[in-house]
Amino acid sequence: MSVTTASSASFKMSTITCSCGKVKLTLPNAVPKFRCGCCCTECLQRAYIGSNGKLPAAVKNLEEPVDLFYVDSQIMKPDSETRAQLAVFKLNKADAPNVNLRATCCGTVLCTQHQEFHAPHSMATFNNLRPFLKCEFAKVPKSKSNLWTMDWPAGRSEALALKEKSTRGEALPQIFDVMTALEEKPITDLISALQIEASTKPENSISYAELRDGMEVKIEKAFFDESRAHLPDRKP
Ligand SMILES: [Zn+2]
Ligand SMILES: [Zn+2]
Repeated sequence: MSVTTASSASFKMSTITCSCGKVKLTLPNAVPKFRCGCCCTECLQRAYIGSNGKLPAAVKNLEEPVDLFYVDSQIMKPDSETRAQLAVFKLNKADAPNVNLRATCCGTVLCTQHQEFHAPHSMATFNNLRPFLKCEFAKVPKSKSNLWTMDWPAGRSEALALKEKSTRGEALPQIFDVMTALEEKPITDLISALQIEASTKPENSISYAELRDGMEVKIEKAFFDESRAHLPDRKP
């Protein structure tokens, strides 16, 4: 995917744009630091919320996980008009670890930051939710693994591995439960990438924490059931 606007061509920046086009965030680093798929119900719920229920069929039907780009949590300072269209929320409960950013104009969820694993240097955005969210990066890394396959029925995870085998030559490692795999290489690689400080911090850029400073954190429960209807029969 190439960056095509005149201004970003010279600066090599990347952009995240909402579905109606009113909100465009510009990130000074044009290259994500890590990429993986995520099968977790929170990512699916965010996809439902950000598309107002009209998420891409492949994501909705669990044919592909949400394609996560982990990027520097550094953003070019948005103008006041853009800032007025930004809001933050947590999923389902006040102590949820992810702080999500959305565009209030159309509801697109732009990015999220896990306060334990991503903060302070990183955040995640979602590459396969077009046309609701458009990520434009100069260069994208290859996906390294698929996280949280415990939230998918086994048949779906197996189908995903088969599809990857035929399209990329090998199936990516599937991390059934990230919390029990913290010492395993796919997760230690991810965690080390998240700890890399932003490679560039231009003068007129701010961190995600600075951007959301003073914004009220709403609790969003929409599409809770829809994003969990497929869960394997398992006691929580
Ligand atoms: Zn919008
Ligand atoms: Zn997830």
